Amino acid sequence: MPKTAAVRKVIETLKREFPGKGAVELDRPEDVLLATVLSARTRDEQVLKVYPKLRAKFPKLSDLAAAKASDIEKPLSEIGLFRAKARAMKGIAALLLSRHGGKVTRTREELTALPGVGRKTANCVLCYAFQVPAIAVDTHVHRIANRLGWVRTRTVEETETALVRLIPAELHLHVNRVFVQFGRKVCLPRRPRCWTCPVARACAFPDKTPKP
Ligand code: SF4
Repeated sequence: MPKTAAVRKVIETLKREFPGKGAVELDRPEDVLLATVLSARTRDEQVLKVYPKLRAKFPKLSDLAAAKASDIEKPLSEIGLFRAKARAMKGIAALLLSRHGGKVTRTREELTALPGVGRKTANCVLCYAFQVPAIAVDTHVHRIANRLGWVRTRTVEETETALVRLIPAELHLHVNRVFVQFGRKVCLPRRPRCWTCPVARACAFPDKTPKP
């Protein structure tokens, strides 16, 4: 288990190397929530292409709640799972209106009660919409935390629990943002680019990729 100072150093290094925002860090909480639900098993570029079309057609939550699911499917038809996601868009809008006065709720329990919203999406909303410390663990965060040797876990749930204990609370907000960018550009799922890695010296991965 690494020391807190070493963990902090890695995250600070990655923050400097990857200062960009996440693709679905949109302006309004409802946009963060809905776009994050659309991003399940879908590339961010595709989400950013279809989401404006969806909201141009259904600008208000009440428009989405009142729409037929088949009409919501049309602007989403280019992305995977679009039928289920259309149902989720409608269901989320309806529940935000009926239970939360048309606002996105700020508690994890209430967020995960919305259709299509799992723990990772709820944590993204807490971080990116409300700056509430949370660690959204996706495949990038899970893989990198294990390679670094910070955790020895099999599931994203175990990884979240372990990382919440390990990482100082004031850094939780940054973990998903920097690890996702790092995982897409350097610590790739296959053949990580270890020879260019800014945190290679702190990494415990035994199979680092040599410089080609
Ligand atoms: S050294 Fe390689 S495996 Fe380790 S964090 Fe860097 S890119 Fe990932």
